[in-house]
Amino acid sequence: MKTSMKDISIRAVGPTGRITLNRPTALNAITYEMCLAIEAAFDRWLTDPDVTQIVIDASGDKAFCAGGDIAELYETGIEANYAFGQKFWADEYRLNGKIFDYPKPVISFLQGFTMGGGVGIGCHGSHRIVGESSQIAMPECGIGLIPDVGGSLLLALAPGRVGEYLGTTGARMSAADAILAGFADHFIPQAEWPRLIEALEAGAGPDILSDAAQTAPEGQLAKNLGEIDQHFGGETLGDILSSLRHDDREFAAAAQDRLNRNSPLSMACCVELIHRLRGPSITMAKALDLEYRFTYRAMEHGDFLEGIRATIIDKDRNPKWRFTDGQVPAAEVSKMLMPLGQNKLKLGDAQMTKLKIGFVGLGNMGAPMAVNLAKAGHEVRGFDTAAQPPEGVAATQSAVDAAAGADVVITMLPNGDILRAVASEVLPAMQAGALLLDCSTVDVEAARDVAGQATERALGFVDAPVSGGIGGAAGGTLTFMAGGTTEAFAKAQPLFDIMGQKAVHCGEAGAGQAAKICNNMILGATMIATCEAFALADKLGLDRQKMFDVVSTSSGYSWSMNAYCPAPGVGPTSPADNGYQPGFAAELMLKDLGLSQQAAEAVDADTPMGALAHQLYAHFVENEDGLGKDFSAMLPRFSARGRQT
Ligand code: NAD
Repeated sequence: MKTSMKDISIRAVGPTGRITLNRPTALNAITYEMCLAIEAAFDRWLTDPDVTQIVIDASGDKAFCAGGDIAELYETGIEANYAFGQKFWADEYRLNGKIFDYPKPVISFLQGFTMGGGVGIGCHGSHRIVGESSQIAMPECGIGLIPDVGGSLLLALAPGRVGEYLGTTGARMSAADAILAGFADHFIPQAEWPRLIEALEAGAGPDILSDAAQTAPEGQLAKNLGEIDQHFGGETLGDILSSLRHDDREFAAAAQDRLNRNSPLSMACCVELIHRLRGPSITMAKALDLEYRFTYRAMEHGDFLEGIRATIIDKDRNPKWRFTDGQVPAAEVSKMLMPLGQNKLKLGDAQMTKLKIGFVGLGNMGAPMAVNLAKAGHEVRGFDTAAQPPEGVAATQSAVDAAAGADVVITMLPNGDILRAVASEVLPAMQAGALLLDCSTVDVEAARDVAGQATERALGFVDAPVSGGIGGAAGGTLTFMAGGTTEAFAKAQPLFDIMGQKAVHCGEAGAGQAAKICNNMILGATMIATCEAFALADKLGLDRQKMFDVVSTSSGYSWSMNAYCPAPGVGPTSPADNGYQPGFAAELMLKDLGLSQQAAEAVDADTPMGALAHQLYAHFVENEDGLGKDFSAMLPRFSARGRQT
């Protein structure tokens, strides 16, 4: 059997499915057609009992595959035809996912360059062979993309901060480096390869590869691990850059040179993506999904077209990136990585299962969350005692009606007492095996009690309070802090992916609420600190914009200042720009601070700042004009006061 076009040779030899990339003059760069042909072969061999393993190699000495063929993407992109690229990437990622999940051994021989798209073909199989000439890299940030084709998964799994380093700098790995970073399995001298491939074609199994493996010549990465962890451990690209700037040794200087060349937006998103992936719930599907969020937007909103222009079209190597000096606002990173709703990457059979969702509590937060679930294709029925369901969400007469027949019931309610009351109604109405997902902020006890009642009825329960505010609810960029069993969390995960950008499984039921009240205790205190500092700055005659410019990039920065600035007309749009309409109401902040004090009392924790923040918000809401205002309205409060008032 021989299916071949000139750029690729696909055939079965004995029990071995054989693929040879055959564009040596283009360093075997992978075209759309080659991708589709490889996928078709993988699909065919999956169910072919005569094929027990697949071997992929490539013609020529210089490269296994130096990347994806990007010229065509550029041509369509500059004509504002973004759909071509979006389809190309979706199809390519589907193939990468298939190679990763393939149940039969997939063996690749990676001589010379294996980069970008080449990593997607060559580095996700079960036996990845490198030799003397191997050089592997994810250099996408240099052209305004991010490490994709599933490469972000490998980066997130690499030891220490090697992933951040390789992803942002695009540094090349030798054979030993690639084995250390998890991009390859065995070093075998290249002179041995033809003999081994022949043996595999003749029926030998992949064990012959481990038998032939030798120790790779020493690489560079192992020597730099200490410095990599030291400099690349920061939360953001800005942290990495400032750490490198304070080090005049050779490694730091070389790393900075590389970072200075690459797209700041791409690098900032690369760091964020790796951080979101790293953790117990890491999967290839999640990696590809996040990568696709970026690449889907890369032509229209990212640096991709400019990167290609400077690298392969005009070849001036002088790209004009959207941001300079690594100063990429966090909001821009979030925008590139926001969920894509119905346009999200669909990986074959792993396509979304349409769920019936009952949503109870459609207020400031619940309504936009329900809308995002409906937009993603789920069937959402909602109930609220006061509010009408938003567009796309079907109205029901009661919480019980919303819950009946639902796979998942989501609650987004004001407090623990209301949650208990609603849960006592809906739990008996829920169908066997369904999940109750409470996203409200409530006391830990309420969450644990409701979890216990759900368990008694053999229903799942997850407490998953959120952070991110109404902006995050509308944009699908919330962070969920979840408590519950692993199974219940796994069931909620696809919904978290739609409504948010991150979900952290914090532990058993109640752990999400514990994380939330600690977070909000910090938020309450920092908002007060930010507001009183603005009021002080006013009285010192300091311009508010200048205050923002300094603090938002200095050590006083915080979410309260940078993302939710309490001063009108300064920083990103926030409730301050809308007359302090909530947003996040002061009474809800008071509630959360009360919850943290209640919890601190119960476990005998000393929390003086939290206690003071609680007192100040109580006074603001109960005795001043704080009720019904956003919690950032503390700023006019402080402005109006003197020291003794
Ligand atoms: P909200 O008051 O706007 O919404 C709550 C909704 O629940 C209201 O529409 C209310 O009518 C409805 N409701 C009350 N009792 C009900 C019942 N028995 N059955 C059905 N519906 C009922 O509040 P929100 O801002 O949407 O906050 C909801 C939850 O999310 C709170 O626990 C809050 O602490 C938390 N939270 C809010 C923010 C924020 O920025 N607003 C941020 C993070 C977390």
